[in-house]
Amino acid sequence: MLIIFKSDITPEQLENVRERVLAEGCEAHVVRGVYRVTINVLGDDSKLDPEELKSYEGVTEVISVMNPYQLVSRDFHKQDTEIKVKDVIFGPGRFVVMAGPCAVENEEQTMRIARAVRKAGANVLRGGAYKPRSSPYNFQGMGEEGLKILKRASVETGMPIITEALDSRSLEQVYKYGDIIQIGTRNMQNFSLLKEVGRLDKPVMLKRGMSSTIDEWLMAAEYVMAGGNTRILLCERGIRSFDARHTRNVVDLSAVPVVKALSHLPVVIDPSHGTGRRDSILPMSLASVAVGAHAVMIDVHDDAQHALCDGAQAITPVDFEKIMEDIRKVARALDKTVEVPR
Ligand code: PEP
Ligand code: MN
Repeated sequence: MLIIFKSDITPEQLENVRERVLAEGCEAHVVRGVYRVTINVLGDDSKLDPEELKSYEGVTEVISVMNPYQLVSRDFHKQDTEIKVKDVIFGPGRFVVMAGPCAVENEEQTMRIARAVRKAGANVLRGGAYKPRSSPYNFQGMGEEGLKILKRASVETGMPIITEALDSRSLEQVYKYGDIIQIGTRNMQNFSLLKEVGRLDKPVMLKRGMSSTIDEWLMAAEYVMAGGNTRILLCERGIRSFDARHTRNVVDLSAVPVVKALSHLPVVIDPSHGTGRRDSILPMSLASVAVGAHAVMIDVHDDAQHALCDGAQAITPVDFEKIMEDIRKVARALDKTVEVPR
């Protein structure tokens, strides 16, 4: 059960309800977000009457739920959620393209790639400044200096920035410079980090854990939303399977319609990390439009052979331009708007 309060609830009003919940032997987890305060009731709540709870002062809604996730579910919010980031809108009838280097390597590289993807029609600039690398000896990202470079590229091209936060410390920096906070596959169940981004007022893109079920993914999103941050993008980035010889992961396209039925949040596909190979980016991007995803995120590099991270999956700006053209064709056939650069 979830009890939702108006945001200006007084401590006494909150305490009255909390005591009522505790009196029935349940746990009451108070979550204070930017936009609302909630009590998540855990335990056997069968003795708590939603109608009675609604009569308490300050309570706006009481939701009894069977699902382990509530706020992110379609039951809770019927319409598709639209998420606006500067001029870019993620939501029904639209297809957003995010592109850029896997990692920010230096100013010239990032500026060149940002200008190229913008010219081709990208809407959002991607680039990692804090990189979650499997080997500690690999390039770990430029840190704050990388974020400053992204910011300059964003100011020049007009594209908002999506970039990854690895932990609380990098989150502070990412919040300062970025427009969308990316939580990577390896951190999908980092619950303390999820709680932290839940308290922020910037959108979050939550990548699916590479071995996570759809329910686990949605529960992770619930952590963010329970904190009051309702602007969440769900990103399918490939899951582990038995055959990793030819593709790095398996892009679970079938998850898209399933997640759209279960949740009201926009769904993004990352064909680059999903397949790990550049020759798969075009077909998987077109499939993303066709399967009903709301966006893709694509790694682009103009010197992939020397890329400090994930060169094998990066496509050239020229190939990106071709992919954009084909994305527009498929989108048009399906009556979807591909945002165009101003
Ligand atoms: C990335 O997008 O740079 C990244 C590291 O992705 P993932 O968390 O999906 O591996
Ligand atoms: Mn990468």
